[in-house]
Amino acid sequence: MRIFDLRSHLVAATLLFRVPADNPDLTRAQFEAFSKQIPLLYFILITNSLAVAYTYVPLAPAWLTIAVPAGLSALCAFRMFWWLRQRNLVLSDKEILHNLRVTNLLAVILGVLFTAWSFQLYPYGDPFAKGQVAFYMAVTVIGCIFCLMHLRSAALIVTLVVDIPYVVYFFATGEPTLRAIAVNNLLVSGAMVTVLFIYYRDFADLVASRKSLIAEQAATQALSDENFRLANLDSLTELPNRRCFFAELTTAFAEAEKDGTQIAVGIIDLDGFKPVNDTYGHTVGDRVLIEAGRRIRETCEGFVPRRVHVARLGGDEFGLIVCGDPSDEDLTAIGEVICNQVKLPYQLDNAHTGLSCSIGFALYPRSATSAEALYECADYALYHAKRRMRGRTVIFSAELDAEIRSRGIIEHLLRAADFDTEMELVYQPIIDAIREHTTGFEVLARWNSPRLGLVSPNDFIPAAERIGLIRSLTRALLVKALAAARNWPDHLRISFNLSAHDICSPEGILPLIATIEASGVAPHRIDFEITETAVTFDFARAEQSISMLKAMGCGISLDDFGTGYSSLSHIHRLPLDKIKVDRSFVADINDNAVSHNIIKSLTGLCADMEITCVAEGVETKAQLDSLKRLGCGLIQGYYFAKPMRADAVSGYLARERRSGGGGALEAAARA
Ligand code: C2E
Ligand code: CA
Ligand code: CA
Repeated sequence: MRIFDLRSHLVAATLLFRVPADNPDLTRAQFEAFSKQIPLLYFILITNSLAVAYTYVPLAPAWLTIAVPAGLSALCAFRMFWWLRQRNLVLSDKEILHNLRVTNLLAVILGVLFTAWSFQLYPYGDPFAKGQVAFYMAVTVIGCIFCLMHLRSAALIVTLVVDIPYVVYFFATGEPTLRAIAVNNLLVSGAMVTVLFIYYRDFADLVASRKSLIAEQAATQALSDENFRLANLDSLTELPNRRCFFAELTTAFAEAEKDGTQIAVGIIDLDGFKPVNDTYGHTVGDRVLIEAGRRIRETCEGFVPRRVHVARLGGDEFGLIVCGDPSDEDLTAIGEVICNQVKLPYQLDNAHTGLSCSIGFALYPRSATSAEALYECADYALYHAKRRMRGRTVIFSAELDAEIRSRGIIEHLLRAADFDTEMELVYQPIIDAIREHTTGFEVLARWNSPRLGLVSPNDFIPAAERIGLIRSLTRALLVKALAAARNWPDHLRISFNLSAHDICSPEGILPLIATIEASGVAPHRIDFEITETAVTFDFARAEQSISMLKAMGCGISLDDFGTGYSSLSHIHRLPLDKIKVDRSFVADINDNAVSHNIIKSLTGLCADMEITCVAEGVETKAQLDSLKRLGCGLIQGYYFAKPMRADAVSGYLARERRSGGGGALEAAARA
């Protein structure tokens, strides 16, 4: 046991004299600190030795006072310059370890040589000169220990190699002064070694803590990099997210401003994504978004030399930043390719989506002077595309700019409008196609603004939706419409348009139910017209509202059929009484085979489901004849009558009664 203890102590002791091989960080730090001090060590060694040699020139042989010191000084000078050179080199761990080991070895060799030289010189001296040797050795060794502080092994070697012979030698002289100097030197060296141990331990700790600090910093940096990445990434599609989009837009905009180049912002909105989500569920919806995002990104990547950044802005909306001086043609081209890609079928276990997309672009510097304004313009171009050019690309233009301005004015004046006095209603007859007599009227709103004159519902209804006034407006209009209908003969129905906002919230529908109940008009005389777009806005809510109206006895017509996302599942799931085929199909029923076929399949579908098909916008006899042939039950349009004011309704009805309907009605209506 004790032998083992002794062995392990011995091993520990020998380790003190070796350069640690298992701690490259420490040896590197030692080497760096060391290479700054070691030239100083050699400087001390050379100057001190030369001073002693000089004193001994008259006293000792030349080989001891000139040749040996010259040789030793040359060796020291060589090492001094070698060390000075190391400052500018980048060494490997292995090279550093090797250099430090050489230093250890040199500490032994130089220690022995200088000590031997000093002892050789000593006997030649007079008492003063002898004293100088003792002083030289003591001071120099302390200086060396000091300079070797960072390499404990070398410092210890020098202490042992010089101090032990020193003490033995000077004690052996029997000279009390020299003995006292030897003891002094021993004590000071001991103190130096103690300080050395403490300093060396602190130095090693410092290196270790610096190392762990660097590791910690790296970990923190990695974590913050990852956080940054996640904060800028859309987790579903793995595209950059909205936050990242606006950050990139700010940078790209500033660059374009600086370079004087064009830059465009694009916003893509998927058409018909909501019904996919509603019909097939969110899992399928998510997969569609991922796939659409992938297609958009790949399209943009292929659009060199323009640089296109893609991001998901939220929901089914994606953003584009087109850098590199794009032209209008570039934007149209990229928009077209994206639309075509998005339209391709999606592989979704037998679910067919029929997805498409609309895109709005705005170009700097033509349309805006700031990044935010540019985005707003693109948003408006998209809005325009969704309303008028679904599935297409729209670039923000001067006309759209004018439209925005008038939109602002309309919104402003509508806020202050008095609905009771400024809103008017006109009534357009809906005619039975076979018997050719009026079955009811569609109510159409007009705003007679004191400032703007007559404003189209196409302008002020969306404005009322935007500024949150639509529900009170709808209610005011319904009150007026029902008041008029109360005076009509009982067999005439009234058709009233609702907006998405009316049917997609419970607060929208309950006041309308109350209004009907208070009106005195039987609910079964009332039809509510709801657009497809309104239904797809929030299908579940719309379905709920529709059921409530249905439960009261009201009829439901699906308006503008064919313009939005025509999901047959909606027709099947909603309790519809009528479908109104949009007038864009009626307009070219005789010129365009597609329109003709759409109306044909729709009338067929309506017949199967026992729903009445209404054709609106009928302007000519030819259109009327085709519609009759295809089996359209109800007709509405300028051919029979334009929308008329309430006071014109009774005269119109009287004329119809007199003429007995039929062809006479057409003539009377047109007269
Ligand atoms: P809508 O429901 O499709 O109404 C039919 C529109 O077609 C009316 O335009 C009508 O005047 C027009 N029209 C009727 N026959 C013909 C024709 O033979 N040829 C042509 N070219 N046009 C014809 P209007 O009155 O300007 O209304 C536009 C839209 O505004 C309506 O489209 C409807 O969506 C909305 N709207 C009108 N009144 C109201 C309302 O009280 N509430 C709500 N929420 N929307 C309304
Ligand atoms: Ca309508
Ligand atoms: Ca319509």
